[in-house]
Amino acid sequence: MNKIGVHALSWVGGWSEAEARTAIEGSARLGYDLVEIPMLDTSAIDTAMTRRLLQESGIAATVSLGLDPTNDITSSDPDIAQRGETHLKTVVTLANEIGATHVCGVIHSAMKKYMEPATDAAIDQSADILRRICAHAEGLGIEIGLEVVNRYESNVLNTAAQGVALCDSVGAKNVKVHLDTYHMNIEEADSAHAILETGDRLGYFHIGESHRGYLGSGSIDFDGIFRSLARIGYGGPIVFESFSSEVVNPQLSSMLGIWRNLWSDGEDLCRHAFQFTTAHLHAAHKVDGLVKEPGAGGARDG
Ligand code: MN
Repeated sequence: MNKIGVHALSWVGGWSEAEARTAIEGSARLGYDLVEIPMLDTSAIDTAMTRRLLQESGIAATVSLGLDPTNDITSSDPDIAQRGETHLKTVVTLANEIGATHVCGVIHSAMKKYMEPATDAAIDQSADILRRICAHAEGLGIEIGLEVVNRYESNVLNTAAQGVALCDSVGAKNVKVHLDTYHMNIEEADSAHAILETGDRLGYFHIGESHRGYLGSGSIDFDGIFRSLARIGYGGPIVFESFSSEVVNPQLSSMLGIWRNLWSDGEDLCRHAFQFTTAHLHAAHKVDGLVKEPGAGGARDG
């Protein structure tokens, strides 16, 4: 069964002990199985404190991040690329100290608007570095998720098909595609179909609305998306992501362009998202017995 999670930035903008407690205890209280902790600044997370709070609340954790122009592993500047490799290795090590199961996000390039397409050499370099990161992570039992995002946040992975191709190129057992409904809504011709095509290469899933606010209050077809997740037998984490100018992380909020206030009560937002997600997932798993495949004796045959 899928672990249902929530991004910490729905609760808090930083990670002091009080903030970590708010996010971890709040998520557990609402029924979530895991909390996703952003780790852009590796010095900002007290791993021992985080691990202790997670254990007290009995929920799991994952870690996410986006690289930036100073540690972009697609950079033609070898010092910048090396800084990225070192940073990713450190994040994986710290994720293990927390007890996290996954490290995911925009780790294949910087998370920024590029002004030119990615070159083949840049993508090959990214794959080479990710292969070494995966080897480090595999020794710690951590899975790596390469997040497919829209064109304004990376020039390497914008579609699920590109995500599968990069995973093939990395060629590690513990590298998977990380999809996000918010980004798919911008780039995919058909999000539900893209999930089917990704199939067992899907390892991590972000659920977010078209405007990144309350689920169901935007334009995304969540029925189709959850049905596809059920059809491929997806068993990985499903993590709710929502951002508002109400809760600000100085690095992440500006990178993601969170200028508008879409909600002010994070607890109500997260309670609703948990109910929405579990209800849609439950319904999607009931569809199989109701739908006949073409040629399997349906009305079309008559
Ligand atoms: Mn995402």
